[in-house]
Amino acid sequence: MSTVADLWNLQTTDLAVAAVKQRIGEIQDQLGETAELREARQEVAQSESELTAWRKKQQSLENEVQDFSSRIETAERDLMSGRVRNPKELEGMEANVAALKRRRSALEDDILEAMDQVETCREQLALDSELLAEIETSWNGAQADLTDELTQKAGELKQLAEQLNKQWAAISPDDQALYRQLRGQKGGRAVAVMQHNSCQACGVSLATGNVQQVRARNERVFCPTCGRLLHYQTH
Ligand SMILES: [Zn+2]
Repeated sequence: MSTVADLWNLQTTDLAVAAVKQRIGEIQDQLGETAELREARQEVAQSESELTAWRKKQQSLENEVQDFSSRIETAERDLMSGRVRNPKELEGMEANVAALKRRRSALEDDILEAMDQVETCREQLALDSELLAEIETSWNGAQADLTDELTQKAGELKQLAEQLNKQWAAISPDDQALYRQLRGQKGGRAVAVMQHNSCQACGVSLATGNVQQVRARNERVFCPTCGRLLHYQTH
């Protein structure tokens, strides 16, 4: 015949199993990449692509300027060659050179702007990379800790499950049925300790007669308020 103390000990192991399982679930939820890490990676990728875009823009402006320079050179050479003598025509050629120079000058302003942007993007990328490195370092540490804890909890669970099986096997079929029923009805806690003449689960003060019955440990006493089986701990 199993005792209330046996059921109490069973419940203690049962609750420990539930707590370890819950913690394992929490750890599994936390394993893997965090939103913070993914966001930091995205920021770096974004900064890299902006930097690349501005570098390309700068390069293409520089090519355009080179193109204009050679057109200006050709036009000036033609102007100086003496090939054309008609003043009207010469005036037109001069105006053309001046127009080319104005367009080149505008492009050179654009290059300065692009260079500024390249510098800004480079600084931003450096900041984002630094932040990502910090987040990665702390994430790696946290993941290693979680993995260690998971291994430890898995070991604990194995041990507790074995203990629970042994304790369960030692409980009489009637008490197994009682425990199962109360456990289901009372939020996983079938047995409550009587402490300072009160039910520790619901806090109600017990009548003297009940207190004496629980202490005597001869018969099963249920809390008149919450219905749990009352257990008297001697130690
Ligand atoms: Zn109670």
